[in-house]
Amino acid sequence: MPQDDLYDVLIVGAGAAAFGAALYAARYRMKTLVIGEQFGGDTGIAGVIENYPGLGHVDGFDLMMKMREQVEALGVEIIDDRVDQIEKTDACFSARVADVSYQGKTVIIAVGRERRKLMLPKEEELTGKGISYCSVCDAPLSKGAVAAVVGGGDAAVKGALLVAKYAKHVYIIYRGDRFSRAEPINVHELERSPNVDILLGTNVVGIRGNNVVEGLALDRDFQGTKELAVGRVFVEIGADPRTTLAQALGVKLNSKKEIAVDKLMRTNVRGVFAAGDVTDGAGDLKQTITATAQGVIAATSAYKCVTSHPHSCELHAMACSAE
Ligand SMILES: Cc1cc2nc3c(=O)[nH]c(=O)nc-3n(C[C@H](O)[C@H](O)[C@H](O)COP(=O)(O)OP(=O)(O)OC[C@H]3O[C@@H](n4cnc5c(N)ncnc54)[C@H](O)[C@@H]3O)c2cc1C
Repeated sequence: MPQDDLYDVLIVGAGAAAFGAALYAARYRMKTLVIGEQFGGDTGIAGVIENYPGLGHVDGFDLMMKMREQVEALGVEIIDDRVDQIEKTDACFSARVADVSYQGKTVIIAVGRERRKLMLPKEEELTGKGISYCSVCDAPLSKGAVAAVVGGGDAAVKGALLVAKYAKHVYIIYRGDRFSRAEPINVHELERSPNVDILLGTNVVGIRGNNVVEGLALDRDFQGTKELAVGRVFVEIGADPRTTLAQALGVKLNSKKEIAVDKLMRTNVRGVFAAGDVTDGAGDLKQTITATAQGVIAATSAYKCVTSHPHSCELHAMACSAE
């Protein structure tokens, strides 16, 4: 295979982790290809981001555009498409996009997580317009509003406590009959919060509103009605890491089905690195800043991997796994 067609690193994903990786890979003068399905990833659809240091108040999509422009200016190639499969080959790795394959010496997997959805009509249309899947990120946006948090795990309970600091009133709606998966101390605090109503044994069955969220429909009465007027809804029912590509390569996962990485973002498979929300790299703190930083570290590890044995895939890969 002509060396011109062989990339030093294939970065799979088009979110913060992928672009953090691409920036550093480009600055290391690595021949870099980013292949990502939904440009911007979760940051791109997050709406306003207020916790990325130095930027104050920024639209998530604008932030991702800036990241993209920065790496394009450094010569990084970008394909906006889905990778169907990654395989080990003589050239190290091959990423297949429809019927075309791209070869790389190393791979960085940065494909994020799939937020669990309520699967209700209007949910997608109103995401970022009142519906959020991240209360840690978006709680301040509920200032002065009546809000609802849907879910019953610790993320939902802690989310409701946080939202209650900003919102005028909060409903936490959970289908179970008690918060058995949440930390008792948080549940206790929630029960004592003056501006929180707890609705147990209740399902959300509809979302109201046209351009913005205006309310929720419930499957049972609360204070004589099945309709709740709310302006903000936080869906905290979990997220699943996208691990199909990694698993096919033999990459190990942790008990939460996240890609297990070491502190250098190396997986157990030689030459395969991972970054961002798909990994266990930052524990439960899944944020744009942590994903970007992990991408940066993964690119640095890939660079060391490629430069330590530049002429032999098998040899350079040997220096590059977590085990
Ligand atoms: C509504 C919402 C609001 C948020 N608000 C904030 C906030 O205010 N501040 C903050 O710091 N964080 C916020 N977050 C969290 C933040 O967005 C994530 O932590 C961050 O986006 C993770 O980046 P990532 O690159 O790891 O994954 P993602 O952003 O999820 O990117 C994954 C990328 O991989 C691509 N991909 C998936 N499968 C494939 C495939 N097979 N082939 C090619 N590409 C693929 C996706 O299309 C996507 O481009 C928010 C998240 C949500 C959902």
